[in-house]
Amino acid sequence: MPTRLSPREILETLVSFPTVSRDTNLPLIDWVADYLASHGIDSHRHAKPAEPDLKAALFAHVGPEVEGGVILSGHTDVVPVDGQAWTSDPWVLTEREGKLYGRGSTDMKGFDALAIWAMVEAKHRGVTTPLQIALSYDEEIGCMGGKDVAEAMRAALPKAASVIVGEPTGMKAVTGHKGGMTYWVHVHGVEVHSSILHTGVSAIMYGAKLIEWANEVNAENAAATPGKIAALFEPPYTNLHVGQIRGGTAHNITAKDCAFGFGFRVVPGEDPKHWERRMMDKVAEIEAQMQAVCPEARIEVETLFELPPLVPVENNSAEELVRQVTGDNGVMQVSYGTEASHFQAAGYDAVVCGPSDIAIAHKPDEYIEIAQLDAGRAFMERLLERLA
Ligand SMILES: [Zn+2]
Repeated sequence: MPTRLSPREILETLVSFPTVSRDTNLPLIDWVADYLASHGIDSHRHAKPAEPDLKAALFAHVGPEVEGGVILSGHTDVVPVDGQAWTSDPWVLTEREGKLYGRGSTDMKGFDALAIWAMVEAKHRGVTTPLQIALSYDEEIGCMGGKDVAEAMRAALPKAASVIVGEPTGMKAVTGHKGGMTYWVHVHGVEVHSSILHTGVSAIMYGAKLIEWANEVNAENAAATPGKIAALFEPPYTNLHVGQIRGGTAHNITAKDCAFGFGFRVVPGEDPKHWERRMMDKVAEIEAQMQAVCPEARIEVETLFELPPLVPVENNSAEELVRQVTGDNGVMQVSYGTEASHFQAAGYDAVVCGPSDIAIAHKPDEYIEIAQLDAGRAFMERLLERLA
């Protein structure tokens, strides 16, 4: 008989793999694939197209080969522990005063462990509605893997109806969040002595025009009356942000280079592409001004990542399911992004619901309360009853 591990034992194993986003997650994926296989569950592996030897996602199906099932979705990567003061080894799940400490215990290997546990239980107990699992990579660096895994699953498995993304919400149903896009803008200027500034192009001074546009748009958006969906968020509008900048050589040389990160947080109901177009129009306008002075000057814009908003919708089967299982009828939106919006974009009903609290995530001494892990297990038990 293969061993049936408890959620806590599974979590212990998952935490022992240091799956920081910049590093490989393959040993963890191998372990999950082997563990599921030992219980007769076949899994699919989706290698990350750009780094097939470093990262993979895993997904699997239990139950009849029919559509209409439920996906439990989690990410396997975690944020780094560099420079953080930990009381105990972040890669060894350690119990102190009713809490289990370890990197990823809250975000979100606790839910991953519950999902793996539920898959094995579903296999042994039997289900008439399928249960599926999706474990992704690269979530912490822009929700990159979720898009790949949502599309790969859609192509390979009978299509599920509902997706539960188990980011920490205290087991409450979250039905909406903002989207996000981040760009790296590189302004290429032309160096001259600053005394003849008018014959050169200062990359910094032209870059500043785009940054000032961000300030103008923020003020405009803050002054506008929010739409019905936007009003649910704080702040209730799309905002633009520059969090990082570099450039210039010396105080008396017009800057040849200025580069900065340019980010949007987009409220559901607005099209991220609309904002991208507005930004690119502004870029073209500034670039034309630069080229009127020196034709070789230019602005390069690289997309770092894009995450669509999770739009609250009516008749969301995932939301209904979670509300039935948890009894939670509150309305809750969050300001962080999740993979739920990639699943929504791939045609699934999606909801965010998982144990623990996002406020504990990413910090030194990250933990999950044992009571939250137990609440997650009770959730899975009720879910399994509904699928039986
Ligand atoms: Zn997370």
